[in-house]
Amino acid sequence: MTHWLAIAVPTPAHSRVGGLLTYRSEQALPAGSLVRVPLGQRELLGVVWDDALPPPDEPLANQARAVIAALDGVPPLGAPWRRLIEFTARYYQRALGEVALSALPPQLRSLTATQMARRLKRAGRASADTSPNTTELRALTADQTGALAQIDHKPGPFLLFGTTGSGKTEVYLRAAQAALARDAQAQVLVLVPEINLTPQLLARFAERFGDAAIACLHSGLTPAQRLAAWLAAHTGAARIVLGTRVAVLASIPQLALVVVDEEHDASYKQQEGARYSARDLALVRGRHSAAKVILGSATPSLESWHAATPVAAGGAGRYQLITMAHRVGASDASPGLPRVLRVDMGRQPKGTLIAPPLLAAIGERIARGEQALLLLNRRGWAPVLHCADCGWKSECPHCSAYRVFHKVDRTLRCHHCGLAERVPRACPACGNLDIGTQGRGTEQLEAQVSALLAGVPRPDGTPARIARIDADSTRGKGRLESALAQVHAGDVDVLVGTQMIAKGHDFRRVTLVAAINPDAALFSSDFRAPERLFALLMQAAGRAGRDAASGADSQMWVQTQHPQHPLFAALKAHDYPGFAAQQLTERQQAGFPPFSHLALLRAEARSQEAAQALLGALAAQAQAAGAQDATLAAALPHVAWYPAVPLAVQRVAGIERAQMLLESAHRPALQRVLAACAPLLQALRATPEHRGIVRWAIDVDPQDL
Ligand code: ADP
Ligand code: ZN
Ligand code: ZN
Repeated sequence: MTHWLAIAVPTPAHSRVGGLLTYRSEQALPAGSLVRVPLGQRELLGVVWDDALPPPDEPLANQARAVIAALDGVPPLGAPWRRLIEFTARYYQRALGEVALSALPPQLRSLTATQMARRLKRAGRASADTSPNTTELRALTADQTGALAQIDHKPGPFLLFGTTGSGKTEVYLRAAQAALARDAQAQVLVLVPEINLTPQLLARFAERFGDAAIACLHSGLTPAQRLAAWLAAHTGAARIVLGTRVAVLASIPQLALVVVDEEHDASYKQQEGARYSARDLALVRGRHSAAKVILGSATPSLESWHAATPVAAGGAGRYQLITMAHRVGASDASPGLPRVLRVDMGRQPKGTLIAPPLLAAIGERIARGEQALLLLNRRGWAPVLHCADCGWKSECPHCSAYRVFHKVDRTLRCHHCGLAERVPRACPACGNLDIGTQGRGTEQLEAQVSALLAGVPRPDGTPARIARIDADSTRGKGRLESALAQVHAGDVDVLVGTQMIAKGHDFRRVTLVAAINPDAALFSSDFRAPERLFALLMQAAGRAGRDAASGADSQMWVQTQHPQHPLFAALKAHDYPGFAAQQLTERQQAGFPPFSHLALLRAEARSQEAAQALLGALAAQAQAAGAQDATLAAALPHVAWYPAVPLAVQRVAGIERAQMLLESAHRPALQRVLAACAPLLQALRATPEHRGIVRWAIDVDPQDL
């Protein structure tokens, strides 16, 4: 008997077929089966989406090709996974086949049946006992006990609002343990922003549940590792799937609990292809699979905070808020959070790098054998090289950005397109030999701090040891891990770095953290900049005083030209709720998320005019299309279209970039309009008028404006 199947194949985004093609098979293949199918001259991996299409009419029935083979031994992908993929494709305006196939390990395409059988056998062996290793579990704090009781009794989703050092990880571990104990098949998904930056979290899960029970999924895996981890998750051998945003699309058939650690982190948003938010998909996935979802953060995203605020208090009341206000080991008398000190840089001599009282405080810490972290969110030696005679600056020839001066290898490097050239001896414009730098990066901070602290001894009289962690200093494999290990081991007295040093590290000896120059973000045009700065500074402050014994006198210093700014006042009071309330009032007045929904239409072309022309033409065509389509016509009045404008960094690698903002208080209306935009953009791009377009994209719920 012939079976007619709709099969998801990786056709280009927005192709007419939307990623589903009709095939026939003599063998019954249930939905979710992995198959090899012909497409043109190629043989592709596909997923059976509908296993019982009605027989198609004559011309199509003749054209439809036969499935080549099913991937033997791999269980079909479950209905919840297929629903998740459908949601992702629809919501983020991409083709179903593209999303489905990009969520699968590439090696599935190339392995022979024997190879696959071997891999499956290996994955099955990973199955393991997850009862905790025999060590006595430590007593929970009152906050932790309360949090776990709520997670146990309520359906969720939960926003675990826990101050830095309140012991959120232990709550994740116990919630996972409870979920696994309740059902011998149950699986838990744990999402983290970046695996390399928080090796401790993985280590704690491995310690509690054993390596064999954990599958780790992130972008740094080899194809073979990725297949092994994916199979372990898919076959249920892995009881815990721990990974970065890519893990949210893994097949986890027995999902019972999802944890999203540091849920506010911007790295949960995918920035190419289907531009999904793994945090948001985690919630969708939880709903589809009836799994509990815990979002954890000391500084939740304002969207999540609003969702967790009760309706009576002006919020949406969609999540249950769990608060852990106390640090582990802290008491009411000594809450354990660092004291925040603001230094008015307007009163310091011009060009001051580190104000004298801060320098003295760092010296004191070194003398006591404690550690200090200095945060500067700019890498390189100096952000710009310039000529005072003629005004030349180190612009990138291909981007609308300056090239950064890196002293180590005496290069000018563009952080956007990667162009690197040796620093010129003289000004390329006028020949002046005396070209100088403007501003400072971490490389320079490290060198100058080393000089400033040269005479400050450690307790044993030896000189202070300064180290740096940023994208440059940790480029090689294993270098980040070893640098972090040095800090944990106490082999570093002062650590200089970018936001990488502010992440969830549990540094035990740090008692002073300083933000060297955080002001730029106060005046950004992006409405999310204050939220991001506040989260970064709170997180940085959270690295100080984590050891209750030495932490009593810990400090967070902020060097600023605007010491009275409300953001710093809220930081001083460790008052996230106050900061969030003030920001949400502003957002409500301006009609920004979470009080509205946004999408960006982006175009890239050889010229800015061409990029903007595509977006302008699209806006006109979408309005015109409303005349033919009643649902679109009903949606259009709910959506505001802003004019096409250049991106903040307008040109990268010689390509001009433009974007158009769409805003609506009504999410379904915005979705309806976006669904109309995708095929229109595709069609417009194919016309001779828009030949100059390099690419376009739709970004739903964009993070960067
Ligand atoms: P957070 O993620 O909330 O910043 P962590 O989970 O890193 O906090 O916990 C902070 C520190 O407290 C860690 O060193 C952790 O081992 C320790 N800790 C957590 N819970 C307990 C507990 N119940 N008893 C003792 N120490 C704990
Ligand atoms: Zn010059
Ligand atoms: Zn460039």
